[in-house]
Amino acid sequence: MSEPTSQSDASHAEQEPSGSTSRRDFLKIVGISGAGAAAAACSPAPPAIHQKLIPYLVQPEDITPGVNSTYASLLAENGPEPLGVLARVRDGRAIFLDGNPDYPLNQGAMSPLGLSALQHLYDPDRLQGPRKKAESGFQEASWDDALAALGKALGDGDVVLLSGAGTGTRDAFLAEWAGAVGADHVRYESFDYAPLRRAHEIAFGRAEIPDYRIDRADRIVGFGSDFLGSWLSPVTFGRRIADARRIDEGRHARFTFVGPRVSLTGSNADDWLKARPGTAGFVALAAAHVVAARKGDARSAALQGTLSAYTPEWAAERTGVPADAIRELGQEIAAAERPVALPPGPESQDRDATDAYLAVALLNYVAGAIGTTVLFAAGPRRGTSATFDEMKALAARMQSGGVRTLIVAGPNPVHTLPASCGFAKALSQVPNLVSLSSHMDETTAAASWILPSSHELESWGDAEVAPGAWSLGQPVMQPVFDTRQREDILMGAASSAGVQHDFGADDFAGYLENAWRERHAASRSGRSFDDWWFETRKQGGRWEGAAEGSGASLSDLAVSYRFADRKPEAPGDKFDLVVYATGHLYDGRGANRGWIQELPDPVTKVVWGSWVEMHPDTAEPLGLRDGDLVEVKSDAGTVRAPVYLYPGIRKDAVAIPMGQGHTHYGRNARGRGVNPLDLLSARSDAATGSLAYAGLTVGVTATGQKGRLVKLQGSDRDYHREVAEIMELGAAQEAIRGHEVDLTELVEAAWDSDPMSPYRWGMSVDLNACTGCGACATACYAENNLAVVGEERCAGGREMSWLRVERFFTETADGGFQTTHLAEMCQHCGDAPCEPVCPVYAAYHNPEGLNVQVYNRCVGTRYCSNNCPYKQRRFNWFTYDFPYPLNLQLNPDVTVREKGVMEKCTFCVQRIDRAKVQAKEEGRLVHDGEITTACMGACPTDAIVFGNLKDPTSRVSKLAKGARRYHVLEELNTRPAVTYLRDVTHAELAHPSEEEGETESAATQSA
Ligand code: SF4
Repeated sequence: MSEPTSQSDASHAEQEPSGSTSRRDFLKIVGISGAGAAAAACSPAPPAIHQKLIPYLVQPEDITPGVNSTYASLLAENGPEPLGVLARVRDGRAIFLDGNPDYPLNQGAMSPLGLSALQHLYDPDRLQGPRKKAESGFQEASWDDALAALGKALGDGDVVLLSGAGTGTRDAFLAEWAGAVGADHVRYESFDYAPLRRAHEIAFGRAEIPDYRIDRADRIVGFGSDFLGSWLSPVTFGRRIADARRIDEGRHARFTFVGPRVSLTGSNADDWLKARPGTAGFVALAAAHVVAARKGDARSAALQGTLSAYTPEWAAERTGVPADAIRELGQEIAAAERPVALPPGPESQDRDATDAYLAVALLNYVAGAIGTTVLFAAGPRRGTSATFDEMKALAARMQSGGVRTLIVAGPNPVHTLPASCGFAKALSQVPNLVSLSSHMDETTAAASWILPSSHELESWGDAEVAPGAWSLGQPVMQPVFDTRQREDILMGAASSAGVQHDFGADDFAGYLENAWRERHAASRSGRSFDDWWFETRKQGGRWEGAAEGSGASLSDLAVSYRFADRKPEAPGDKFDLVVYATGHLYDGRGANRGWIQELPDPVTKVVWGSWVEMHPDTAEPLGLRDGDLVEVKSDAGTVRAPVYLYPGIRKDAVAIPMGQGHTHYGRNARGRGVNPLDLLSARSDAATGSLAYAGLTVGVTATGQKGRLVKLQGSDRDYHREVAEIMELGAAQEAIRGHEVDLTELVEAAWDSDPMSPYRWGMSVDLNACTGCGACATACYAENNLAVVGEERCAGGREMSWLRVERFFTETADGGFQTTHLAEMCQHCGDAPCEPVCPVYAAYHNPEGLNVQVYNRCVGTRYCSNNCPYKQRRFNWFTYDFPYPLNLQLNPDVTVREKGVMEKCTFCVQRIDRAKVQAKEEGRLVHDGEITTACMGACPTDAIVFGNLKDPTSRVSKLAKGARRYHVLEELNTRPAVTYLRDVTHAELAHPSEEEGETESAATQSA
């Protein structure tokens, strides 16, 4: 019994037999193996793979079948931050993406969106060649015809090139190309940073994005942006906040989050100040007032006139945050040695967004953060994007017939702009709409011609990720489909149009190399370009020129600045609306990736859909329960989605995530969930024109129907059963102070392997470091060929994830809650309850202490799963599909399981074996740190550590002997090989009496 999942689509014309590699695929793969090498060796744009089905006659020197090659590259267009990656390529196909450890931003770590770029690359729904619109839909076309059509359109005049907002040579090329053909070049990204830049221009005369060094801070305040999820540089910030709170090293910066809902970022904070949407800047302004009054230094005196009116009482009236709480926050910031404040982000932007960002900038100034934890000339570089108002102006120009040819090269504005912008409607007035997108997205669906561009991992590119730090992107394999590098398409079109312009090269690879020749000359390295270039490609860029960062002086404008006063009206019987981006789906570009749809949202744990967050106390009188379908209505539109009851949102607000609600884009995205941008009217920041996501009220009405709300977590609480442990800061410090780690002593779990074996593999997970981002879970999907089962099966509790990140709440003394994220996988128990109940010995203990599953023996009784107290075993009820070309991503080192087989985390046994073989060849044991499991490698916070428990000095052994150690459900005496380190909070926890604990426990059992 095999049935298609949501990844499969029987009607898909290009679908091939899935789950295994057919002979034809194999020939393709072997045929393209040389291309991976050629790409790395600087070849021009390679031909599509189906044009070259030639097996090797002469084996390329650097390709050994069955052995991985690694190519450094760059994902600049995949999400909020450019990520340097090392693509693991096997037999010509990329099968895994590691973070590039040398790359200055992500430093080896990844995000779920970054890891899932492979599913974008191998997406069966990618456009597979040029298409021309006909009456009956799109028809296949040749590249010659497509380029000729685009060339002809260029001759029509009034051409606009709409591209993403980049920073490197690709962006420079697009600008040069637009100049050469006489086109206007508009750059557009879903989230611009215009108010952030403008605020710093007002404050310090520097229209920059500064570098927020939260790793150096001893007091952190977030004024609304989801900087650990979707804003600016989440992977970088993940590492930095973990570094700022390494309690075992004596650091634990207190973190306060200000905003209407507890986002992923807010869930990692110690305190939550519940400001109304769009008002966090008022809290920052009042905090700056308090800091300035307390410090009374020269910086404070300079801003005396600017800040004097904004008292905590003034802010309390506008934000809903008590004045005392704001005053206390200001006092704490003033008392800190190295405080840092982070700005509001899109979800907190109202019509005075620039003022809100400026308030945070001035708070950083009076607190002394500028030059210590907030640095200029070193911040992340992001291209400048057209603002909402500028896109509205473009839409108006289109509507009036002022654009004859629109070339959309990357963005998908029909989905990422509110309908109130008028962009989608205006497209019908453009005679020639040409899309260079890789997917049939909402904008592309309106095109007359589609010239599909290659994926980033099939293309050349670069980016200046920070001033002086250049990352290089190179193709790591041949294009999967008949696509071309975007810039080569444009060069071809210009040539077809007879444009006489010398780009200095015949193709973009040459153009990019020329740009790097200039960088080589400027570097004065003293080495030949060929050597220098080879090394650059090998390491993925040049970062030695990165600027150190500096402070900035207050501008005269800031001294005389007058903030606009605004007092938002109470929503009355309506609700304040919060529209926010998640780190997974981002602006919707992750929506057709099965790994992303099936990865639980880090806050709500919902998969495959949209929801409307509402506080339980608000829902009760309305008679609403989890999953009830409601209608949310604004002046601009209406959406319907199920309610999600969440104590982490203000009682007068509702929140809806972005990213879903696609009408096109592919089988996993189309028709799923809602797009909350439909609710937004055409409001923008008065100073910059950036879209105002906040400041709207909506009506919410029950429909009397049930919606589909699929959550992959049962209880939000562990009911004091030692599952997700959290301790107060004082207790943690005391425990650590009096604790010494004996480097000669073995931990108990070390004895649970064969006495003759030198190894007992174990893991530690630091809950204090873990932010709940989910990169570990996604990496596990990529490495271990995990099946995506779809919404229906998830609703039935049949997800196949080997690692789940659970989210638990613990009550605090003030009636709030603290969130603990718990990454949980097979615990590889010494006394594993799954082993003795298997009738066929499929679950057994190997000599190295691993709890092993022999797929070939498993007969599917599922006794092991019933007996696993950690619920970490997954049963294959079906043989799941990996529709072509997704099957090309499968890791050949790992078996693809079929129906009737139980599976679970193996600690990446294939990586363990590889390291052991290597060590054996060299006549030694495996070194500590030599094995990195997939989850450990992806984790931005270094929360996961793997190693040998039989080595008492190994890192994992030391952590397993640490002061914060515990085992989940320890009283069961299963002797897990996974040690958890307790979460730590500055908040005061509610300590239930024994009686209360028992009552809670009984309540759960009866539930
Ligand atoms: S353990 Fe997993 S969820 Fe936690 S920070 Fe690391 S990658 Fe993210």
